[in-house]
Amino acid sequence: MAKEEWSIADFEIGKFIGEGKFGKVYLAREKQVLFRSGYVVALKVIFKAKLEKYRSHSHLRREIEIQHNLNHSNVLRLFAWFHDETRVFLVLEYAARGELYKVLKSLHHFSEKRTATVRNYVASLAGALAYCHGKHVIHRDIKPENLLLDIEVHISLFNYLIVEGRLKIADFGWAVQSNSKRNTMCGTIDYLAPEMVEKKEHDHAVDNWTLGILCYEFLYGVPPFEAEDEYVTFRRIMKVDLKFPSEPHISAEAKDLISKLLVKDSSKRLSLHKILMHPWIVQNADPSGSCFE
Ligand code: AMP
Repeated sequence: MAKEEWSIADFEIGKFIGEGKFGKVYLAREKQVLFRSGYVVALKVIFKAKLEKYRSHSHLRREIEIQHNLNHSNVLRLFAWFHDETRVFLVLEYAARGELYKVLKSLHHFSEKRTATVRNYVASLAGALAYCHGKHVIHRDIKPENLLLDIEVHISLFNYLIVEGRLKIADFGWAVQSNSKRNTMCGTIDYLAPEMVEKKEHDHAVDNWTLGILCYEFLYGVPPFEAEDEYVTFRRIMKVDLKFPSEPHISAEAKDLISKLLVKDSSKRLSLHKILMHPWIVQNADPSGSCFE
């Protein structure tokens, strides 16, 4: 999408996809394209009045700067952005299957299929986060709502269609690009690492912690430290009060991986590269990060 100046006139607007805190997302097609005719994208329309109300200009600027520079098959592409008097438009890669969370919820609970699927998602996430960390980008808000799935349709020799759902990390609103340690408390309570709860300095290892939380939630259906009261959740996180309810389809290896990520001392958490070599991941994960169902 190499073009100096974009405007809303460059797009045909299609169906409404969804609404977030700052605006709306639509399916859109680029009308007159430089390289790929009729390219379908998701157009996020952000209202400047809302940015003002929540004083979020700097967040958005940072999100755009960071995401625009990332190019990985498991990170949602931000192709371009532009603005008019009242709105900012983000031209995003379209992830046709939407939120990963909804897809996982619709799968049969605790089945073998679900476990294999989760394994692939965890491997994809570890690969994408390793790429981001290599560029000194810490996401800091990895949670199910910020993970999307695309669809790719392939036609084989025999004309069969295979639908592939590739995981995409989206929403870099809380991300930072920095080599040094940070101390802002951000993210969503259930996914916060102990060093963030304690408002201590933190680094890229907060994303490794969150990967452990997600892996648990994908397998058990709830995050591990969930409680009715926020204060209890905070205390459970600080104590790493981790319990594994007995579930026949959840293997000792899966629990071992989670236990090695949910470690209070951030320097002792399993590295992203070691996750990719962990016995639970290597038994079936597709290293390309794709997932066939
Ligand atoms: P947001 O403003 O990012 O919270 O997004 C609002 C809704 O649009 C949510 O349901 C998202 O899952 C959906 N959405 C956002 N971006 C995309 C995208 N690139 N592709 C598909 N759905 C999206």
